[in-house]
Amino acid sequence: MSEKVFKRMPEKDCIFCKIARKEIPTEKVYESKNFYAFPDKNPASRGHTLIIPKKHFVNIMDLPESLASELIDTIKEIAKKRIKEGAEGFNLVMNNFPAAGQIVMHAHLHLIPRKKSDGVKINH
Ligand code: AMP
Ligand code: ZN
Repeated sequence: MSEKVFKRMPEKDCIFCKIARKEIPTEKVYESKNFYAFPDKNPASRGHTLIIPKKHFVNIMDLPESLASELIDTIKEIAKKRIKEGAEGFNLVMNNFPAAGQIVMHAHLHLIPRKKSDGVKINH
């Protein structure tokens, strides 16, 4: 299906749309054509990063397949940066729908840098 079909208008009150539009300033961890990444305000570990599509999609069920390879590249670029900074591994977490703990209803992926025996509990 063409991406045009999936084109979304920004949601007026969506905090992650405001971050993607840079109306709310954040530290830019990484940016690609369709994705933006910034630090989680409540990090599970040092370097915990949120990756969001710039357009408003509610969760993974809503994301077009055409963005998949750009998303994977984005994940790898951020992971490389965190590994350079000392991470030994990382978790990717995505909460989809409130029953699974999704609080912000704009699709986002958590990239949580890890070190062996760091004691981090993933409850995102
Ligand atoms: P969830 O929807 O359960 O994946 O959780 C949303 C995540 O977004 C939480 O980890 C929050 O700490 C994070 N978060 C919410 N608002 C902001 C913000 N303005 N800046 C950075 N992180 C945020
Ligand atoms: Zn949004």
